[in-house]
Amino acid sequence: MASSSSYSNSPCAACKFLRRKCMPDCLFAPYFPPEEPQKFANVHKIFGASNVSKLLNEVLPHQREDAVNSLAYEAEARIKDPVYGCVGAISVLQRQVMRLQKELDATNSDLIRYTCNEMPTTTTTTTNQGGRRVSEGGGSSIGQSSGFYYHSTWNNDHL
Ligand SMILES: [Zn+2]
Repeated sequence: MASSSSYSNSPCAACKFLRRKCMPDCLFAPYFPPEEPQKFANVHKIFGASNVSKLLNEVLPHQREDAVNSLAYEAEARIKDPVYGCVGAISVLQRQVMRLQKELDATNSDLIRYTCNEMPTTTTTTTNQGGRRVSEGGGSSIGQSSGFYYHSTWNNDHL
């Protein structure tokens, strides 16, 4: 749609908001296009323009877009929820993970129970006195479920 040459005539959202001339080497221009004025307004309200430019200078150029997008996300969440911000969303998701983990554990143990019950009983002819069934073999996979690792986007490195 809009080509990158379109922002040379109109200032970026940051410069327009700050009422200053948008220079060709403007740090904000690639990340705050004039079509998204609210993005900069939110980030400026929560973090302040000077902190944002400081942060952009501290990260590598290829990381700046991700940095701006996370700042915009955090700022929007903070405006919507002044008390918890995006921590509110994180704790809801963490509770969801815990609930789903419990559900998964319960389902896994059900599955193991059903699998054990369906196992042919011909292999249980052991030399044990009293004819006790040896069913430890079937339960060994329970331990695997405890190694379940939640892959959240917070510890995913986008490389
Ligand atoms: Zn600019």
